Amino acid sequence: MYIYDVIGVGFGPANIALAIAMEELSFQGKALFLEARADATWQENMLFEDSDIQNHPLRDLVTPRNPQSYYSFTNFLHKKGRFFQHLNSNFHLPLRIEFAQYISWVAGHFDHLVQYQTPVVRIERIEHDGQRIYQLTDRGGKTYHARMAVVAPGRTPHLPPVFDGLESPRAIHLNHYLKTLNELALDSLDRIAVVGGSQSAVEIMLHLSERFPQSDVIGIKRCYGYKQKDVNPFTGEVYFPDFVDLFHASDRPTKRRLIADLHYTNYSASDADVLDRLYQRMYQQKIQQREKIVVHRSANVTGVEVREDGQLMLTIDKLEREEAVRERVGLVILATGFKNIGTRENEEPYPRILQPLIEAIQLDETGCIDTNYDYSLTMKGEALRTCFLNGLCESSHGMGDAGSFSLLALRSQLILQSLNDTLQHHKTQSRQRRATPTKAVPS
Ligand SMILES: Cc1cc2nc3c(=O)[nH]c(=O)nc-3n(C[C@H](O)[C@H](O)[C@H](O)COP(=O)(O)OP(=O)(O)OC[C@H]3O[C@@H](n4cnc5c(N)ncnc54)[C@H](O)[C@@H]3O)c2cc1C
Repeated sequence: MYIYDVIGVGFGPANIALAIAMEELSFQGKALFLEARADATWQENMLFEDSDIQNHPLRDLVTPRNPQSYYSFTNFLHKKGRFFQHLNSNFHLPLRIEFAQYISWVAGHFDHLVQYQTPVVRIERIEHDGQRIYQLTDRGGKTYHARMAVVAPGRTPHLPPVFDGLESPRAIHLNHYLKTLNELALDSLDRIAVVGGSQSAVEIMLHLSERFPQSDVIGIKRCYGYKQKDVNPFTGEVYFPDFVDLFHASDRPTKRRLIADLHYTNYSASDADVLDRLYQRMYQQKIQQREKIVVHRSANVTGVEVREDGQLMLTIDKLEREEAVRERVGLVILATGFKNIGTRENEEPYPRILQPLIEAIQLDETGCIDTNYDYSLTMKGEALRTCFLNGLCESSHGMGDAGSFSLLALRSQLILQSLNDTLQHHKTQSRQRRATPTKAVPS
């Protein structure tokens, strides 16, 4: 049995940033990353031609930690020979397609550490040679072993309860958007619904109305109007490392208050450019008397039926009127966000992948995982830090620490320091074991 020092689950931006930190900060152990997908394409199902990123490009995989790194977005532009043209292009922020290329470019430098097409289906703690180690099992049943694990699978998609468990390929989370469009028969998509009020919801509505100009695109959202993101520089300080210190040290009610207060810095809201584009497109359609985009405001999907022809019938309750509306659609895209750690409707106590390990993890009084400042989880009866969450820590560390690039680089440094401390401990222990003379057995 080969035992790695660290196995990372997932090779998205969070663990790619960790791989960079391992190289730049001289991690002395043996590492392996297991990634479910065939490559490291970032947000492959949301790569629209004209969508931009929502973070300053200096907040890339590495610059906040090491501005001199080879793996910066700036160096990527330089290496691709696009530096000056990029500056001249006058995009407010880089295009998502280009940032995805940057992430793939960085990931490509770490191919020797990554095994793609390897979805991990189980992580457990086992005893081996008097030590506790992690055993990870992939979908094919193959096992991998490590002293430490860094779990970075991205957040679990949130589906409104009415869609949860619905068996239909025509109700999908945005994570599967482009792939599904390419798979479904296009002629059946004469009516398409988009549920949610996020940036992704607005982007998808724009994309659908371009790709299917003859189809009805129906937006459904709880609020009266689509909301604009709070991007003012004062609330933007939520993405500073200082905010992580403040947030992590706060008690639960304070955390709840801050999360509610700062919600629109990142969630259920869009940038002004896409809101303007959607509004203008609807207005253009009105002028031409062909209103193909319709928005149900203050609306909630309360029922879904799968019709005989496979299409879906949605029942939509509206706050401002008595009677519900019914809409037949060939596809519904749920741009309804992702789960955080917690006990509420759109939360989960821990990511599902930790289920087989949960008995070994110290939980908080509500039964949820409680992530330490260095992103480790406390394992019962163990002093060493061996299990880390990378990118699932909004409830413990605040907004910048889950659905955002802002703090990836700094987070990877903290995780790496703790990995190094534990590794050092193991090395010292094994040196001591070798140095202890074995007692002679009397004949
Ligand atoms: C459409 C969209 C646009 C976004 N744009 C921005 C932006 O512009 N700026 C920003 O700051 N943030 C953005 N975000 C937030 C985004 O989540 C983060 O930027 C970033 O992708 C988080 O990286 P991650 O590695 O934590 O998770 P992910 O990117 O989700 O990567 C997780 C990886 O783990 C793999 N994986 C999952 N489970 C397993 C398993 N069991 N076994 C093996 N591998 C597994 C997945 O295949 C995936 O490759 C966006 C999010 C979305 C949905």
